Amino acid sequence: MQNHTHNVLLYYKYVPIEDPETFAAEHLAACKELGLLGRILVSHEGINGTCSGTIEQTEAYMKMMEQDERFSDIAWKIDAADRHAFKKMHVRARNEIVHLGLEEDINPNELTGTYLEPKDFFEQMQDENTVLLDARNDYEFDLGHFRGAIRPDIENFRDLPEWVRDNKEELEGKKILTYCTGGIRCEKFSGWLKREGFEDVSQLHGGIVMYGKDEEVQGKLWDGQLYVFDERIAVPVNQTEHVIVGRDHFTGEPCERYVNCANPECNAKILSSEENEHKYMRSCSDECREHPRNRYAFEHQLTGEEVQARLDALKQTTEA
Ligand SMILES: [Zn+2]
Repeated sequence: MQNHTHNVLLYYKYVPIEDPETFAAEHLAACKELGLLGRILVSHEGINGTCSGTIEQTEAYMKMMEQDERFSDIAWKIDAADRHAFKKMHVRARNEIVHLGLEEDINPNELTGTYLEPKDFFEQMQDENTVLLDARNDYEFDLGHFRGAIRPDIENFRDLPEWVRDNKEELEGKKILTYCTGGIRCEKFSGWLKREGFEDVSQLHGGIVMYGKDEEVQGKLWDGQLYVFDERIAVPVNQTEHVIVGRDHFTGEPCERYVNCANPECNAKILSSEENEHKYMRSCSDECREHPRNRYAFEHQLTGEEVQARLDALKQTTEA
């Protein structure tokens, strides 16, 4: 991006933080003072954040963090932007900085998979006996992933261990490479895999974000886009080619545009073209279209009769 005015930061650090509640309150005040917007989680095990601001604001933030010896070696992931990527500023104290919910927790500083830099990851993912395991959620995978990766059908990271136990035969005896957005989930997950008895476990250091920025690898063998947890939603990774893997929820056509189902009780992330968003009332199913609090109907001030007419028209096209 040329002549950008803003940055979006992504970072984490597994390091003991003594009083997360107090830390969160003070950190929120500091972030607000700087004018940052974003979402930061703090816990006894560390910090996990993503935030946006002008170049000056984000640089001031990184400088502030680097003065604290707990955070002086954070590997910042910096994306150029031309506006904020968040609407509010939150700093929250939690039990974990990523929710895996293990009965017996993993400290990645003590147990984790081998770190692979982008170039080594690129080479090893092409080896015969390697399995590539995506450590993200299904909707993230569906927008983009490494070519040939396994897609665990999970909606939440905390469901990943159970998925692995149910699908052990796919992984046993293999060299396992895991990857996630910025690397934080793999730190714990790859450690857990080792504790489960998988011997050869490696993780993509810096995650997909750093893989896409690596000058030599240039995001090769990544298909689609990267799902990010800010207003941008999708960002490019592969600098050499763009293969669209996302599919429109309604028609199966290539699509990389996410919307949330208009049923407030469903809210599912669905890939949909603008045209189909209107045709299907931005709803994933008939049940969601007919929901009395359907947001699409509300936004477009559709009367009950108008909604019914649309439902009838859709049923006719599917029957025909
Ligand atoms: Zn729905």
